[in-house]
Amino acid sequence: MNKKDKSHKIAKILNELYPAPSIPLAHFDPYTLLIAVLLSAQCTDARVNTITPKLFAKAKTPKKMVLLTIPEIEEIIRPCGLASRKSQAIWHLSKILLEKYDGQVPKTFEELEAFPGVGHKTASVVMAQAFGIPAFPVDTHIHRCAKRWGLSSGRNVTQTERDLKDLFPKKDWIRLHLQIIYFAREYCTARQHDATTCPICSVTDSGLQKEK
Ligand code: SF4
Repeated sequence: MNKKDKSHKIAKILNELYPAPSIPLAHFDPYTLLIAVLLSAQCTDARVNTITPKLFAKAKTPKKMVLLTIPEIEEIIRPCGLASRKSQAIWHLSKILLEKYDGQVPKTFEELEAFPGVGHKTASVVMAQAFGIPAFPVDTHIHRCAKRWGLSSGRNVTQTERDLKDLFPKKDWIRLHLQIIYFAREYCTARQHDATTCPICSVTDSGLQKEK
């Protein structure tokens, strides 16, 4: 089966399994989503969702955030890991938002990626989930699935993003990136998978299923 046919089948299965995938990170607006995504680096969404209510109870706007000290932010977000680096990024990006953007999160990749602690994946999540602008953020789950399904070489996330964008229609990117994450967590985990019960590889004739 060629990649294009396989991608159609996979999209159909994902639409059946996850017809309306919700955004996993709790947030109120683009700013709180940006902070939540930044906190999710090397941390689970579930854990971030237990920490952000505490942080946002004290500061859910850039104006309030800069009134906290970096050590205060660090103390709250410690369970998310990389707390020193993340707290500095949160404080400094909030200051930049206030000084340069009147407290509003900008809507371009270029501006978002210029913030401390914000890489291409974080910017892509904000563009897609906060503003509905087509983007295909590739995290470790999506990277793994794309390789296992034979849709990408898996060389690096940049290549995977390029391959998936070529295969799937732009209008589906935002929904698909969430669907693949949900699928990866439920069926296609990094440690194990069960090809006998999995709804994807059995019908798409993908590589890993054949190896088992
Ligand atoms: S069979 Fe395995 S590799 Fe293929 S989609 Fe299912 S869980 Fe992932």
